Amino acid sequence: MIVMKFGGTSVGTAASIQNVLEIVRRRLARRPVVVVSAHSGVTDMLVDLSQRAPRGNVDTARLEERHRAILAELGLPDTLHESLLQELRELARGMKLVGEASPRAIDLMLSFGERLSARTVAAYFTLHGLEARAIDAFDAGLRTDSTFGRARPLPDDGRVKRFIAGVREVPVVTGYIAADEHGNVTTLGRNGSDYSASLFGNALDAEEIQIWTDVDGVMTADPKLVAEARPIATMSFDEASELAYYGGKVLHPATILPAMEKAIPVRVLNTRRPEYAGTVVLPDYEEAGSVVRAVAHKRGVHLVNIVTPRMLQTHGFLAKVFDAAARHEVVIDLVATSEISITMTTDSARHLDRLAADLGQLGRVTVEPGHAMVCLVGHGMAKDRMVLARALTAVAEAGVRPRVLSQGAIRVNLALVVTEAEMERAVKALHACFFP
Ligand code: ADP
Ligand code: ASP
Ligand code: MG
Repeated sequence: MIVMKFGGTSVGTAASIQNVLEIVRRRLARRPVVVVSAHSGVTDMLVDLSQRAPRGNVDTARLEERHRAILAELGLPDTLHESLLQELRELARGMKLVGEASPRAIDLMLSFGERLSARTVAAYFTLHGLEARAIDAFDAGLRTDSTFGRARPLPDDGRVKRFIAGVREVPVVTGYIAADEHGNVTTLGRNGSDYSASLFGNALDAEEIQIWTDVDGVMTADPKLVAEARPIATMSFDEASELAYYGGKVLHPATILPAMEKAIPVRVLNTRRPEYAGTVVLPDYEEAGSVVRAVAHKRGVHLVNIVTPRMLQTHGFLAKVFDAAARHEVVIDLVATSEISITMTTDSARHLDRLAADLGQLGRVTVEPGHAMVCLVGHGMAKDRMVLARALTAVAEAGVRPRVLSQGAIRVNLALVVTEAEMERAVKALHACFFP
């Protein structure tokens, strides 16, 4: 069987859902399990609702209208969502009543986007002769810990497979959401439906995990930033993970792990061009003769600097720094050290002020927001002596001076930290240099 995940824009309008039906219909022989995101923009609307409901604004009209319009265009009854929308309204009123939204309540609220869209898609399939069943991922057995907002999956004991085996229709499963062991609804983090797809692929021993999106696959850079970006036909699990981790939004960073565990190929495909082969991500693939495979970028990066003469000749200093980061749940991406200073980067702004206060006991601390990470990814970089010089020349000629540089010993990537204002120029210059 295969898993086919359709992202927000792929199920964003009635026309795109009609298109999805045809894509799935043509692949019925491969026994697809369909995973869907919320209609594009809906999760943002729910985030907004979760922020204003505690302050008294529980208006859900725009969100309801969006869903009703899609149902109407698809010829589906507008009563389809009545009970779910009723629940959502009650939840919003509950937040207003207590004047706050707990992380648990927020996750429950965010889960409605996928639950609504799965119902729409399944009903539309069924209406057109492709019998389908909407399934909430938590009912299908997807379990996580209770870290609301970015829950981590718990090991699967075969329950997902048992559940899906009992479904006769085409399963249309919600992406992005799951439940903890107490039955509380959790979410896997923004953009998490890709991750759901690969968790289901792993649990079901799929032959392929297909990520259907709005571009021709994984490209040499984000096509929204670099018009010249081109699709990549094949890449390795390592390269795809690095690219996703360093900002290639096309895949959620955790997507590759569950696929890698069972060596299941991940294919990234374009719903607007279904016949196009897209990108296939395979174990241990190496593109002959290639150096850089892609340029990734990530906004919203903070620099955390610690300056202290006390680091001189001591041991255990870094341990204290990382210990503090772990305590405050701040994820560190890059680290650069000198004898008297440490610079770290992170994109998790939550708790950063508390971390900075704690680190203040170790030295003088400054936090600089407004940075971005630009990263070159590719296996071939390890063998190429000139790649570093070429990359630095390219950004320098574009007038950009990186604040932090990092190249691991494994050398699948080279990361530069620049200001957000310089990011676009840096990405374009690097892309032009390595993909002339
Ligand atoms: P979906 O809703 O289908 O999950 P996303 O918006 O999450 O879609 O991801 C697809 C988007 O990722 C593309 O529209 C593109 O702008 C962006 N993107 C960023 N980096 C890359 C890349 N290297 N290759 C392809 N797309 C990329
Ligand atoms: N709907 C969720 C989001 O917008 C998950 C996803 O689209 O992957 O973040
Ligand atoms: Mg996505």
